Amino acid sequence: MKNHEVEQEHLEMQKKFNQHFLEEGYAIEDFKFVAVGYLDSSEPFERGEVSNAFLTKLNILWSEGLVLGSAGCHVCEFCEGDNKATSSSEKELIDRENKIKYFFPKMIFHYIEIHKFKPSNEFIAFVMRS
Ligand SMILES: [Zn+2]
Repeated sequence: MKNHEVEQEHLEMQKKFNQHFLEEGYAIEDFKFVAVGYLDSSEPFERGEVSNAFLTKLNILWSEGLVLGSAGCHVCEFCEGDNKATSSSEKELIDRENKIKYFFPKMIFHYIEIHKFKPSNEFIAFVMRS
């Protein structure tokens, strides 16, 4: 799945939940969904160096709290040869201040370290202040 497909899926889920909460008379919260690092070979992605501090922090956040299983296994489309990296879990991080829910796959570590993927500055800044 690509970033925008992941975002669309979560947005539709939120709509359904909000509809239900409204009917039940609960207050609802609208979050913006931002998927980070669901890379696809058909779309270009930002490359660059990230700091070790960012990687360390992202690792800590990954290991804290709930890790979501995702539908099926994802295979890296950028690895050459037969030894392609795979991952099958993803993580949600909530930026309450800006009402954003970030999603990223475990594969993000592989993309950053091996394929030099650079997440958005917005995401990096959020991770560093989390
Ligand atoms: Zn790869």
